[in-house]
Amino acid sequence: MREGRTVVERTLVLIKPDGVRRSIIGEVISRIERKGLRIAAMDMRTLSTEVAEAHYEEHANRPFFASLVEFITGGPLVAMVVEGERAIEAFRSLAGATDPVSAVPGTIRGDFALEVQENIVHGSDSTYSADREIKLFFPELA
Ligand code: UDP
Repeated sequence: MREGRTVVERTLVLIKPDGVRRSIIGEVISRIERKGLRIAAMDMRTLSTEVAEAHYEEHANRPFFASLVEFITGGPLVAMVVEGERAIEAFRSLAGATDPVSAVPGTIRGDFALEVQENIVHGSDSTYSADREIKLFFPELA
C-alpha cells in the first residue's frame, strides 16, 4: 500500500490503426482524460517498417511479429505521451488485457475489440519501456 507518495510517470500510448479506422479516437482520449491523466504530446502518423520493428523489438522472434508489423504500419495511428500519477499502470488498467475476449467489459479492449492483434491501443508496460518508446516516438521530449 502506498502512503500518499506521488509518483508521476509518462507512458507512450498508441491508438492503433484499427482504432483510427473505427473512429474511436475521441472515445479513447475521453477515457484517458476522464481518468485524470494528461496528454503531454500527440500526433497522427503512419509508422515506417523500421520504427514499427524497433517499437516491437521484444517480439521479434514471435510467430506473429511480421503480421503485427504489417498491421501497425497499415494505416495512420495516433501516438501520444500520457502523464500523471502512476500513468503506466493507470493506462494499462484502462486498456484491459491483451486478448480483448478476456479483457473486462468497461476497459477499452473489453468494450471495443475481439481480436488479439487488432486490440485498439498500446500502452508501455514498464518505466524502462516507456522511456525507450517515448525516445523512439517523441525524441524531442525524452
Ligand atoms: N499480439 C498479436 N498476437 C499475439 C499476441 C500479441 O498480434 O498472440 C499483438 C497485439 O496487438 C499486442 C501486441 O502484439 O497488443 C504486443 O503484445 P504484448 O504481449 O506486448 O501485449 P500488450 O502489452 O499490447 O498488452
